[in-house]
Amino acid sequence: MQEYELIVVGTGPAGEKAAVKAAYFGHKVAIIEKEKTFGGAEIITGTLPSKTLKETALYFSGKYEKGLFGVERHLQHEASIEDFMYRKNYVTASAAQETRENLQRHGVDIYQGVASFADEHTLAISSEGKEQRIQGKYILIATGSYPYHPENIPFDGQRVHDSDTILQLRRFPSSICIVGAGVIGCEYATIFSTMGTKVFLINDKEAILPHIDQEIAQDLLVQMHDAGIEILFNTSIASIEVPSEETAPIPIRLSSGKTIHTDMFLFAAGRNGNIQSLHCEKIGLKTGKREVIEVDQKYCTNIPHIYAVGDVIGFPALASTSMDQGRVAVAHIFQTQDLEHLPSCFPYGIYTVPEVSMVGKTEEQMISSKTPYCVGKARYADMARGKIMGAKNGFLKMVFQKEDLKICGIHIIGNIATELIHFGVELVESKQTLYDVIGKVFNFPTLHDLYKYAAYDGLSNLSGHKIKP
Ligand SMILES: Cc1cc2nc3c(=O)[nH]c(=O)nc-3n(C[C@H](O)[C@H](O)[C@H](O)COP(=O)(O)OP(=O)(O)OC[C@H]3O[C@@H](n4cnc5c(N)ncnc54)[C@H](O)[C@@H]3O)c2cc1C
Repeated sequence: MQEYELIVVGTGPAGEKAAVKAAYFGHKVAIIEKEKTFGGAEIITGTLPSKTLKETALYFSGKYEKGLFGVERHLQHEASIEDFMYRKNYVTASAAQETRENLQRHGVDIYQGVASFADEHTLAISSEGKEQRIQGKYILIATGSYPYHPENIPFDGQRVHDSDTILQLRRFPSSICIVGAGVIGCEYATIFSTMGTKVFLINDKEAILPHIDQEIAQDLLVQMHDAGIEILFNTSIASIEVPSEETAPIPIRLSSGKTIHTDMFLFAAGRNGNIQSLHCEKIGLKTGKREVIEVDQKYCTNIPHIYAVGDVIGFPALASTSMDQGRVAVAHIFQTQDLEHLPSCFPYGIYTVPEVSMVGKTEEQMISSKTPYCVGKARYADMARGKIMGAKNGFLKMVFQKEDLKICGIHIIGNIATELIHFGVELVESKQTLYDVIGKVFNFPTLHDLYKYAAYDGLSNLSGHKIKP
């Protein structure tokens, strides 16, 4: 039986980065992947495809000025579903290929098949009715997550979708009902709405995106309303029946008593850890609610030589953090001493139309921790670069402590918010003040001016006098 110093299960961002790092440090590494295409949710079913569809929707709707390589810019016809999916298919195929090549380049042995524990050090790999076994001194589980399927939703991958099957659409929906006003639900609601689909968003709470600053969430809500998205709060799905006739609308009965009819349906509320096929129970590996694997600060499970990272351990379940969890776990396994833990503050990016991004504390968190605080804001439309871009909406909000003017949170809604946030990460992480921001020189004109103007606005709000930057 082949023996390895490390066996990684899963080629998503967590598994790929972990395997490559361990190999880079000279260790003998194997990786097991059940799918023929590599990259997990980051490349195949989640991050990259949905972000590419967003850019494509902006492009086709004329709201995006830059040309997309490979897609006809001035369309003489309405975008077909093939047009819509073209760039997504290209991006995912090339990223999957790069993942495979990266593993090969680093000398990682690749095994194709479903991994399950035979014992604490041995993994059985099943593929097309055959089984082989490999042994590892250490094992790292990076099997990701899968979309939650409630029993009352008749998923068929044709008209009733989850976030995996929606990527295989064969025709545009004329209307769609999306359940879940979290990140995935809101992103797809704005993507479809940008493409001209009538969207109903069903939310069992009274706010969308409850984890972000609520002033930003409210602004997004207004822009979603303006785009024609109908959001139904405090309601859930009572029943849904798919008619046998393809063209007949799907009646969807809500817990509020209302019935809506749409062409398609997307359930985008909740994900569970991908552990079923691993047979964790066989070796006594501790798991928790929503099928997550329990780990400590070093990503070590209750079995000292078995580690787990990425979506399979639950929150925050992002591609960005999963990659570094993989690298941190390898640092602990092989004592590379280069990366002991993730930074305490990291950004959240929500690729809705418009984008939202944040780092650090929200106003709500400042209030609940009883920290005296103040805010400063700057609008895209007031910045020289914003004027050039013709920005009508969008703003940056800086949350800072009254006592010492330290910046605790940055919240942005607007064009390229997910890019702009990284300066804010630096400010929050290194506990910089309003004066530190004011003292910086930025390229002009750029949207980074938002930071400076928000800092001046914060000082004005504190003093009660308007300070002109
Ligand atoms: C629609 C959507 C949009 C998203 N957008 C973003 C975003 O904008 N930004 C962001 O940071 N994150 C985003 N995410 C989250 C991100 O995709 C995940 O957090 C990330 O992919 C998790 O990485 P992972 O390596 O833990 O797992 P995955 O990427 O899920 O990879 C797990 C891999 O393990 C394999 N596997 C599972 N079980 C076995 C087994 N028994 N044997 C062998 N192989 C197995 C799977 O086939 C898969 O390839 C999004 C997710 C979704 C669904």
